[in-house]
Amino acid sequence: MQEITILHLFPDLLNLYGDTGNIACLKKRLEWRGYQVKVVRCTVEDNQMDLTHTDIVFIGGGSDREQKIVCSKLLEKKKELTEYVENDGVVLAVCGAYQLLGKYYKLDDETIEGLSILDITTERGETRLIGNVIAQSPLFEQPIVGFENHGGRTIINNHEPLAKIIKGYGNTGDTGYEGVHYKNVFATYIHGPLLPKNPQFCDEILSCALRRKDPNFKGLEKLDDSLENQANEAIIKRFG
Ligand code: GLN
Repeated sequence: MQEITILHLFPDLLNLYGDTGNIACLKKRLEWRGYQVKVVRCTVEDNQMDLTHTDIVFIGGGSDREQKIVCSKLLEKKKELTEYVENDGVVLAVCGAYQLLGKYYKLDDETIEGLSILDITTERGETRLIGNVIAQSPLFEQPIVGFENHGGRTIINNHEPLAKIIKGYGNTGDTGYEGVHYKNVFATYIHGPLLPKNPQFCDEILSCALRRKDPNFKGLEKLDDSLENQANEAIIKRFG
C-alpha cells in the first residue's frame, strides 16, 4: 500500500480559521481510497523538514505578526523549498503563506521578505478584504467556495491565477482573479477548511501528488461526494 506524506509547516503559528481542516480532508480522502497517510508537523521551534520524503506541503494563514516570525524561519529553508517546487512538489498555501511564497509583503512601515518562489508581490491596502468567495478555476469544474480576510493586495505578474472571481475580492479586489497556480503550487486567499466543501479542488491536489510519486498513476477512485457537493452548492445558492 502506498504511503503519502503530508508536511504541515508551522501549524503552531499559521492556523487561522481552522486551516488545519484542510489536512484532515486531504488525509481522509486518501484513506477512503486505501492509501496510508503520514502527517508530519514541522513547528517553528524545530524547523526540521525532510522534503525528499514529502508528497504534499500545506502552509496555512496567519496574522501580520505571525508572518513576521515565520518569515525568517522560512527563509532558512529557501533553497530546499525552491528545489521542491521546481521539482514539481505539491504545495497548498493559504493567505499569509501565499503572500510569503512571493517576493515581499509590504506593510506600512516595514517589508517582510518572502521566499521569491513565485514572482508576485503583496502590499497592505487601506482596508481589509473580507467576505465569502466563489471562484471558477480552469483546473476543475466545481466552483471554489470559501471565505477571505486579508489586508494584502497581491500582484501576480505573469503567473496564471488559480481562479476567476465570481463573488468576492481575490488577489487585489479589482483584477477579478484569485490565487496563483504554478507547477504543482496552489496558492489562495481562501481560508479556513477550504477543501472539505471543495472536493474537486482537494482531488486535484491529491492527483498531482500521486502522479508525481507514481508515473503509472491511473487516476483517483471516485467517492460519493453528495454531502460535500451539497455544502458547495449551498454556498453558491446563498452568495452566488
Ligand atoms: N496578514 C495577511 C493579510 O492581512 C494575511 C492574513 C491571513 O492569512 N488571513 O493580508
